[in-house]
Amino acid sequence: MNIILFGPPGSGKGTQAINLVKIFKLHKIATGDLLREEIKNKTVLGNKIKSIIDKGLLVSDEIINGLIKKVIFNKEINNHLIFDGYPRNLAQAKELDLMLKKNNKKISCVLSLNVDKESVIKRILGRQICTNCRKIFNEYFNPSTKDNHSCDIRFLQKRSDDNEKTILNRFETYLQKTLPILNFYKEQNLLHQINGKAKIDEISKEIRDIIASIET
Ligand code: AMP
Repeated sequence: MNIILFGPPGSGKGTQAINLVKIFKLHKIATGDLLREEIKNKTVLGNKIKSIIDKGLLVSDEIINGLIKKVIFNKEINNHLIFDGYPRNLAQAKELDLMLKKNNKKISCVLSLNVDKESVIKRILGRQICTNCRKIFNEYFNPSTKDNHSCDIRFLQKRSDDNEKTILNRFETYLQKTLPILNFYKEQNLLHQINGKAKIDEISKEIRDIIASIET
């Protein structure tokens, strides 16, 4: 089973991916996380990537394909994948199909989390990520508390691209480059539309039901 989590920035893909990884023992491939790792290493490539991310643009397909190839050809995980933030344009979607085909694998379903622009902006402005356990919180809608989070609050951080100007560019990039992929998957009957404004638990349940219906 290989799943794509699709949706605009801030639609909750990362939060749902964390749940699904646990429940279905999947391996998460989040290209944004892979890129941020590269930035952390302060390489020449990392600095180049940072300037693109901070502008709200897409990193080149060449760089992304290089990162994906490193994980996708690992035989132990290559039929238990959950993609978060990838593919982000039609060329990447087609390249992903080709790479999976080489291993006789395919995408099982595409889960599209639908959230409007105003809501994603509010969500992104409040987003906090725990650098210790990787859990995602929102200081307004889903704050870290003693009940839902055991790490020290000093681990909570904001992303450098989670500012108002970059968010608007990221949303525009999503509309222009990423949203058109939906038709590609719709034509293959792989697309499931989900109300991404529902409660986190309700969305998780809907996703679990979809996956159960595919597995049987
Ligand atoms: P994310 O963590 O998914 O929100 O991604 C953060 C940023 O990384 C995006 O705004 C892009 O600049 C870049 N990025 C992540 N995934 C991709 C991808 N598949 N293709 C191109 N750029 C990407």
